[in-house]
Amino acid sequence: MKIFCPDCGRTTEFDYKEWHCSCGGAWELAEQKVFDMSLIASSLSSLWRYEKLLPIELKEQPSVSLGAGWTPLMPAEYGGRKILLKLEYRMPTASFKDRGVEVMMSYLHSIDVRHVVEDSSGNAGASVAAYAARAGIKAEIYSPAHASKAKLAQIAIYGAKVHTVAGARIKATRAVMKVVKQGAVYASHAYHPVYLLAQQTAAWEVWEQLGFKIPDWYVVPVGQGGKLLGIWLGFRRLLAAGLIEKIPRLVAVQPALLAPLCEAFNQNLAKWPITNPKATSVAKGLAITKPVRWKRMLQALRESNGKCIAVSEEEILSAHKKLAKLSFYVEPTSAVVVAALRHLFAVVNPKETIVISLTGSGLKSPLSQ
Ligand SMILES: [Zn+2]
Repeated sequence: MKIFCPDCGRTTEFDYKEWHCSCGGAWELAEQKVFDMSLIASSLSSLWRYEKLLPIELKEQPSVSLGAGWTPLMPAEYGGRKILLKLEYRMPTASFKDRGVEVMMSYLHSIDVRHVVEDSSGNAGASVAAYAARAGIKAEIYSPAHASKAKLAQIAIYGAKVHTVAGARIKATRAVMKVVKQGAVYASHAYHPVYLLAQQTAAWEVWEQLGFKIPDWYVVPVGQGGKLLGIWLGFRRLLAAGLIEKIPRLVAVQPALLAPLCEAFNQNLAKWPITNPKATSVAKGLAITKPVRWKRMLQALRESNGKCIAVSEEEILSAHKKLAKLSFYVEPTSAVVVAALRHLFAVVNPKETIVISLTGSGLKSPLSQ
């Protein structure tokens, strides 16, 4: 599996022990076949409908499946405007992380990895734990002690070992780094190139669900940026194959309490801004001070003529309630995209199509916890 580092341009064969480039950059798949739509297995209602378009080889195909992907694209009306909701929380462990983890764990299982570690505020950890149980792989998850109790319980019941780490989110990453440096296999939603590769499939699904058309706008919450980059790379692949004429304008949303991407993009900063790691938004899943793929995230917003919108805590909580009254119960982390709509409606033509990505179920993070 050939990979490249977008930060320094290095190309090499992937070895899971070298989980990032020597320059510190995060790997991406180097070789992506031209997107041939005749290779879509339309009878499969999961992301495996695109298996022949993913440049990885699995010994058993698919080896570790719980049926992730092919999530509904549901029309709704919000604030008097029509929107389309991509229900990414309708996944095996109730978050969009399964889209990347299902393929990443299939790959790791295929190369006979038997023990993995991961750090997570909850959703990625629950996903890795579930797929590890399915594959008979031992998993250890490092999570902040303040993570949602429902998420920590979910990780544990799948049989993974939970290590809770006191303090800010970044301390859980530092804790996992210690064991990774001692040789543990890092099943990371932030670093693993196969995780990011699989996140492209959401873009292809939306393109199919809209009758092989693209939306004008695509709104996503941003922490580590896996959803933003997956969507961007997925549409770029369709563009490269001549199947679409442009990519949608991407809208990244962050809580104003911790919005480094918005600060960097909106102020056109040359360096990543320093933000307060102790800032505690209700959008706990977005508490990432310096995402590893931050340069690519800025590139995605610039190339798509996108936007970055920071929303207040009041806006997040209000949007969370309003969305539930429309029958969509998501976690506060996921509700940031809805909170951004008021800002977006002010600049978007009502005739334009807006897809918003709902990433995590409300059951995972009740506000009372
Ligand atoms: Zn590099």
